[in-house]
Amino acid sequence: MDIIYTQELDKLMALQKKDRRINSMREEMDLIPLKIAEIEKDMEAKKDLLEEARKRVLNLQVKSREMELLIKEKEENVLKHQKELNAVKNNEAYKAILTEIERIKNGIDSLENDEISLLDELEEAQKAERKRKGEFMEMEKGKRQEIDALRKRSCEIENVLKGEMESRREMALKISAQLLEKYEYLRSKKGEALVEAEERDGKYFCSGCNMALTSKKSGELRKPNVIAICDNCQRMLCLKVAPGSFKEENEK
Ligand SMILES: [Zn+2]
Repeated sequence: MDIIYTQELDKLMALQKKDRRINSMREEMDLIPLKIAEIEKDMEAKKDLLEEARKRVLNLQVKSREMELLIKEKEENVLKHQKELNAVKNNEAYKAILTEIERIKNGIDSLENDEISLLDELEEAQKAERKRKGEFMEMEKGKRQEIDALRKRSCEIENVLKGEMESRREMALKISAQLLEKYEYLRSKKGEALVEAEERDGKYFCSGCNMALTSKKSGELRKPNVIAICDNCQRMLCLKVAPGSFKEENEK
């Protein structure tokens, strides 16, 4: 069978149009979980950055407390040595303790300098953490809205799809079994079952595989209600039909 004479070309075109719509809806729906996963991954990465900033603050706070304790310890040491001075009789020992006190005091000065720069660093780190937190919350709000919108869209598609599948089933019932079977078979193998025959330099070509049609088929194709089968790819061929010129039965 390489020429089909049929009154059902319009119905078949409408069915194919419906199938295209259903396919594109399914494709969109299949992409939604991937898009959501992508957004969640992005959020996690931003959360890691925030956590990093928080850890830096904690780390500096710990260091600063350690330094304060160390200074306090040294100051107590100075007091202890000053008390020792009262008990010392020997001049040599007295001098030695004074030197030791001086050494500890120098150490305290240097620690206090370090502490000042540490506190500056801590202030900067806290500022950076607040900024990141603000940015993160703003971003998170936007991303959550994006995810909600995608989930809503998925439900919408699912609902419309149900109706479309039902209307597709009704459309298919109105097409003769033999033609429908051929259409379904080609659809499963080729994606598009029905393609246009393109005219170039007075010859017709299959737009599915680009093979030229025999002159007999080209001649038949010019008649109304004819579907030609491509010798090469087996797709159903019909003449170029302006969009919307065929009856769209059961179309909304
Ligand atoms: Zn072909």
